[in-house]
Amino acid sequence: MTAAEPPTRSAPPPPQRLPGDRPGAFPTPEEPANGRTDPGSTAGALGFDLLAEVARPEADPCDLACAAAPGYAVGDLSAPEAVWLLGHTATCGYCAGEVGGYRRVATALDRLADVLVTKPAPRFRCETCRAGFGRVASPLGELFVAATEAGVCEVGFAVYESEDAFRARLEARGLTPERDQAAIGAVAGELGEYFAGHRDRFETPLDFSGVTPFTRSVLNATAEVPFGQLRTYRDIATQLGNPGATRAVGNALGRNPIPVIVPCHRIVRSDHSLGGYTGGVGIKERLLSLEGAYLGSA
Ligand SMILES: [Zn+2]
Repeated sequence: MTAAEPPTRSAPPPPQRLPGDRPGAFPTPEEPANGRTDPGSTAGALGFDLLAEVARPEADPCDLACAAAPGYAVGDLSAPEAVWLLGHTATCGYCAGEVGGYRRVATALDRLADVLVTKPAPRFRCETCRAGFGRVASPLGELFVAATEAGVCEVGFAVYESEDAFRARLEARGLTPERDQAAIGAVAGELGEYFAGHRDRFETPLDFSGVTPFTRSVLNATAEVPFGQLRTYRDIATQLGNPGATRAVGNALGRNPIPVIVPCHRIVRSDHSLGGYTGGVGIKERLLSLEGAYLGSA
């Protein structure tokens, strides 16, 4: 094969981000792969140094692109590697087709993993498992806060989701939502103190019922990160004994039912870029700034 494309290699268009793709699954130049952000150590994930190979005069870019395609599909390429691959597939229909095929497989596996691992089993609605909820004012706009008898179970941002959507989340956990400001009185007080800068840890009990064991372990580890400090997705994965699980940690934090109180905003990418945040990365920035945390300190 040479860089000049034979006529048979020109059909499919370059891959586009698909609606079902999860952040981090397919890095773009602006969004490096989860935990794969330091260009100095890229040889590990692919098993070879893609950019060094590309630079060799005798290199066949199509061979290299096809060799890198599976790693790209599962989010293992560094940002510079992904940039090179996307540049190649923009002009090479054959390799674009190869990358697209691997991406479809990776997406299907992700969805399967969601069904097998991360979705709580369907459960009967518990009519007595009542979740009282109400609104709490904050510098981030109103929060929805819900609590069962066991503790705070859900927090939502009104700027991000409607009250109906928040209620639906409670129902999906088998809870019966009921407007009840008194049920959240204690946690509303703690949130008020936190946002006023007078509280650096929450004491209110938390209710993780209906949360899968892996997600619960991620949330518990995250809850231990002190006020104003940062950890990386990889730190949390390592703490849980599985340093390779950075992506699973990111996905679990994306399902954090109790943001702010379980401080997933303190978890950032290995290159100290913010990573994602349900409700928008602006909220993550505001929370970190309120805590005086600086991204350089992870
Ligand atoms: Zn090619």
